[in-house]
Amino acid sequence: MTAIPDLHTHSTASDGTLSPTDLVARAASAGVRVLALTDHDTTAGLEEARREANAQGIVLVSGVEISVTWGERTIHVVGLGVDPENAALQQGLAGLLEYRSWRAEEIGRRLAKQGIEGAYEGARALSNGTLIGRTHFARFLVDRRLAKDTADVFKHFLTTGKPGYVAGRWASLEATVGWIREAGGQAVVAHPARYGMTRTRVQRLLGEFREHGGVGVEVVTGSHSRDDAFTFARHAREQRLLASAGSDYHGPIYPWLELGRLPSLPEGCTPIWHDWPEMVNEIAAHRTAAV
Ligand code: AMP
Ligand code: MN
Ligand code: MN
Ligand code: MN
Repeated sequence: MTAIPDLHTHSTASDGTLSPTDLVARAASAGVRVLALTDHDTTAGLEEARREANAQGIVLVSGVEISVTWGERTIHVVGLGVDPENAALQQGLAGLLEYRSWRAEEIGRRLAKQGIEGAYEGARALSNGTLIGRTHFARFLVDRRLAKDTADVFKHFLTTGKPGYVAGRWASLEATVGWIREAGGQAVVAHPARYGMTRTRVQRLLGEFREHGGVGVEVVTGSHSRDDAFTFARHAREQRLLASAGSDYHGPIYPWLELGRLPSLPEGCTPIWHDWPEMVNEIAAHRTAAV
């Protein structure tokens, strides 16, 4: 049984490959007791996920992963325990979806200039039709055998300086944390090691984030090594931020990552769920099991 919750996952509501129902069912089979669905820039999958979580008897935390432009960089901020009905949050997300739609067409146009026709239509067909991400383009290009896997597509087509790259113009850090807080949620900086920042820049990011009302940072996540976990556990302690943990699962097409297979948080972290009412029984069960 997984002792710690999995607080970062994706469904077909964004760029995951499992429906919210299948994702929750798979999490339950994997022994996950507390799961957050955190689709990119949308809460559209939460209602379906909640129905299945109730059927499976597991706790679903309403989440979202918001795309942020901070300086010249794109960073991701996860909101946990948000009210999906909140108007400020939904207005913010609507703006991001509008930008996403324009960006998807623009990526299509740029790839077409390189002789790759039909990429927009292809990516759209692999998406749910309303939220198109770079991952959908990546899958299209892999299907067309223009790259060997999605990582290869990002490297050759979709990152800075490459033909299909469009610089992000997402939400500000302040607005994002504001929407999450207005929706009653906790804001968490996602997968910080992925941004390749210097220690000083990380400190600046986390400092600003905290000033805006952010409360947590992902210490354990699918793309972090154990060293990364220790590094960000230290940052979390220094900045008095809570530590979160989530797989960043996108579906079984990425077989190296599974739901709920998370190492424990390094010593000295305060878990973001330390005072969650829905975790009281889980924590008690874990303590008993550990004795
Ligand atoms: P987007 O929000 O549409 O710009 O897409 C971001 C998503 O692309 C991330 O959440 C990942 O799922 C995926 N992604 C980003 N970088 C890579 C990479 N180097 N290899 C594979 N997938 C990536
Ligand atoms: Mn993704
Ligand atoms: Mn992310
Ligand atoms: Mn994610």
